[in-house]
Amino acid sequence: MNKTQKAINVSDELEKLFGLPNRDKSGTVLDCLVETILSQNTNDVNRDRAFKTLTKEFPSWEEVLEADVNQIASVVRIAGLAGQKSHAIKNFLTWLHTKYGKLDLEFLRDMDSEEATQMLCQHKGIGIKTAYVTLAFACGHEVFPVDTHILRISKRIGFISSKATADQAHQFWSTTCPEGKAFSFHMNLITFGRQVCDARKPKCEVCPLTDQCVYFQNGGQLP
Ligand code: SF4
Repeated sequence: MNKTQKAINVSDELEKLFGLPNRDKSGTVLDCLVETILSQNTNDVNRDRAFKTLTKEFPSWEEVLEADVNQIASVVRIAGLAGQKSHAIKNFLTWLHTKYGKLDLEFLRDMDSEEATQMLCQHKGIGIKTAYVTLAFACGHEVFPVDTHILRISKRIGFISSKATADQAHQFWSTTCPEGKAFSFHMNLITFGRQVCDARKPKCEVCPLTDQCVYFQNGGQLP
């Protein structure tokens, strides 16, 4: 079976398990980008706490833009890498304001996905995953972000080599993700990674994907 068909099968199986996830349409595109920068290398709880503190301390993005980078770092410290993240946020806001005269990213909704990705990724602290999450979650673009769960599962099921990097996984999925399924497949793979295909102890005994899984067929290790 080719990998495109295999991806369709896995996506269908996960939809049977978890259904079709809803996209949260609240918040602006810029909110989503900042939240996603804060989410790098931390969990959802700490990301949310950092975002809440940041927006409480600075109720508008204009106020964040005016703030000293150390002030920003001190309020987002809970999310980790505070120095790096505060610089990324401040630098991006400065660029956005200089280029467009306002702190508004809503125009990304109508921009071509590739162009929007390039525009975001030219900034330090914004990689392809952060760009794709922003475009998929806030704008409804058909792009497929690869997180740590998705990278692991992609290797176990045999979509990509055990040595593939996250960048290679993004490249692979940009051509192999089933059409129209980027958001639901992404969300369902993450749920699957949390509930079934755990990093340390995958629950293969209850998994509906054993017949597709290279890791399972290889006795519980990557080839
Ligand atoms: S069979 Fe095991 S390793 Fe393979 S996808 Fe399922 S839970 Fe993960």
